[in-house]
Amino acid sequence: MRSNWMYAGLMCLSLAAALGCSAPVAPAETGKNAAGKAPGAVQHVVLVSVDGLRPDAVTTLGEVGAPAFHRLMKEGAFTLNARTDFDFTVTLPNHTCMVTGRPVEGEAGHKYSENSAPTQSIHDVKGAYVASVFDVAHDRGLRTAIFAGKPKFVVYTMSYDSARGAADAEAPDHGKAKVDAEEISNYNDPATLSATLRELAGGRANFVFVHFAETDKTGHTDTWDLEKDSPYLKAVAKADAAVGKIMEAIAADQALADSTVLLVTSDHGGTGNNHKDAKDKLNYTIPFFAWGAGVAKGADLYELNAASRKNPGEERVPYDAAAQPIRNGDAANLALKLLGLPAVPGSTIGAKQDLVLAPVQEKQEGK
Ligand SMILES: [Zn+2]
Repeated sequence: MRSNWMYAGLMCLSLAAALGCSAPVAPAETGKNAAGKAPGAVQHVVLVSVDGLRPDAVTTLGEVGAPAFHRLMKEGAFTLNARTDFDFTVTLPNHTCMVTGRPVEGEAGHKYSENSAPTQSIHDVKGAYVASVFDVAHDRGLRTAIFAGKPKFVVYTMSYDSARGAADAEAPDHGKAKVDAEEISNYNDPATLSATLRELAGGRANFVFVHFAETDKTGHTDTWDLEKDSPYLKAVAKADAAVGKIMEAIAADQALADSTVLLVTSDHGGTGNNHKDAKDKLNYTIPFFAWGAGVAKGADLYELNAASRKNPGEERVPYDAAAQPIRNGDAANLALKLLGLPAVPGSTIGAKQDLVLAPVQEKQEGK
């Protein structure tokens, strides 16, 4: 098999100039980025969702109260005016957008609108297989992980396990279970952080999905109150500290620093003691931060992406609007693009993979 690939490659090389033929892509070797990227390219994407994070909590806390979020803004590309799903501003529907690149409703929708303890997989609800960022990465031999702070996040591990995950779409076969490492707790954010730091130090997953829950829990019990020293602001400060630990771990390891992008966003905001009303701007307005290898420093994501995205002001923008905002649902296809992989099959949010994190430079290839 291997010699066939090599033979085909040699044939192709010898004929390439005359015929313009492109070499067949050999199956990925273990331990090597399947995308065959050069050293220094992005090998790891850590996607952090801080549940119920209002962007104005970050600005209210300021640099002293939220040093990590402010470091993300100073050293990364960000917007404090990203959007949730159009129809839902609750946890599982929006996290499902983040990992599938689909809206909740509509023809392309993942349809997972439930937000309580899961009884069905995402595919059972949709009535068809819903591929995810985990599928695309794992099928190409990359390592994936989920560390989450609410028990209901088992919907992801159960939807993409060895029983319910799709057959590997890319040779060689990496199996149907798309998630290599998982830890799902009952609101134990320190456990989530520990698992994430362990993975960064040892397992080195290529895609890590991290979820911190306490901000949302505090909002529900004590309201999304931004008064000085409010319980919610204190919870946001704790999430900031956790994000800061992740940033320190990446920055302290040169190999990781050179090859990792951290994305931080949220599933929804909140007001009063809830966030269910998808028409309320306090619920649908969320931050989206990107930081790490190749990411512009101190850049506004809407300025970087003026050709493909539009700052929505205070509007709640439907999916059929010509000018789309940056959404939490952009995370899946952005992560895959950074890893050199194609968009999630069936996805529609950011499916062109045109969201950029730095000014686009003309390639000098071929010179
Ligand atoms: Zn909630």
